[in-house]
Amino acid sequence: MYPQSFEYISPRTLKDAVKFLKEHEGESKILAGGQSLIPILKMRFASFGYLVDIGGLQDLSYIKREGDSIRIGALTRTGEIEESQEIRMNNILLAEAASQVADSQVRNMGTVGGNCVHGDPGNDLPSVMLALDATYKLTGPDGSREVPASSFYKDSYSTDLGDAEILTEITVPVIEHGSGGAYVKHKRRSGDFSIAAVAAYVTINEMGNCGTARIAVTSIGPINFRSKEAEDFLIGKKLSDQNISKAVDLMVDSAEPAADPYGSVSFKKEILRLVGIEAISKATDRALGV
Ligand SMILES: Cc1cc2nc3c(=O)[nH]c(=O)nc-3n(C[C@H](O)[C@H](O)[C@H](O)COP(=O)(O)OP(=O)(O)OC[C@H]3O[C@@H](n4cnc5c(N)ncnc54)[C@H](O)[C@@H]3O)c2cc1C
Repeated sequence: MYPQSFEYISPRTLKDAVKFLKEHEGESKILAGGQSLIPILKMRFASFGYLVDIGGLQDLSYIKREGDSIRIGALTRTGEIEESQEIRMNNILLAEAASQVADSQVRNMGTVGGNCVHGDPGNDLPSVMLALDATYKLTGPDGSREVPASSFYKDSYSTDLGDAEILTEITVPVIEHGSGGAYVKHKRRSGDFSIAAVAAYVTINEMGNCGTARIAVTSIGPINFRSKEAEDFLIGKKLSDQNISKAVDLMVDSAEPAADPYGSVSFKKEILRLVGIEAISKATDRALGV
């Protein structure tokens, strides 16, 4: 199908984009890589009077190391994240997840900002940002504010982003010595969204036990979420196979997947268990340097 008609706006500056969004609040929509929005428009699930294409704001495309953080412009393509040496060397969790988003065509067009802000619980990068405790910079008519990924997601396709706000930057930590991350995704075919996926980040303390655990889940339930049950169980304990397995059982018990054409509730829970064990085990091995 063709989308309903809309007016196409291509602002030259971030300031112009925000101004236009403010003046046309409720009737305009930001367009970045178009990989989620265009299919929605073509299927006529939604329509807008104005599409504000921010793709020309090249100042919002960068990857910059700053101390123990990496700042990523929202318009950076998912494919650029996957290829970036800075990210591969210093944040394997993000690089690993980016390489598993869709296929190379989608990754070459889709942006990290669009992936994180869309609010689709099947998107991979929100779980990574939850596991990394990333910060989102939102720029609107009254300036910028920083929001932790942990409080950004409200419901399916519903986030803390205001109508006239643009996600401009994402800050993630460098994964230091003694910490590790991994993203494990199970999908039916190459390029698909996941049936379930888990992003795991752990640190090992001086006692050799788990200091921090952040375990986030994709495609199970209405939003990407962290499993407090698994995290609380792991903290302070040895990251042994037995403890990882017990933590994942707690995560699976509290998960509420919906049955759909991709599988029954019990099938999805079993997949979640398998990807959960693999992700936490892999993150642990990386933290231990094995
Ligand atoms: C065939 C196919 C398979 C896919 N498989 C996967 C997958 O396996 N895993 C996965 O994670 N994703 C998948 N995707 C989604 C893809 O990663 C999209 O690129 C991503 O969800 C949106 O990024 P975008 O830049 O294309 O955003 P757009 O489609 O342009 O926008 C998406 C939404 O975000 C808003 N938006 C975009 N950028 C900003 C911003 N900077 N500030 C505020 N609002 C903004 C838009 O208004 C819109 O509501 C798939 C897409 C397709 C078409």
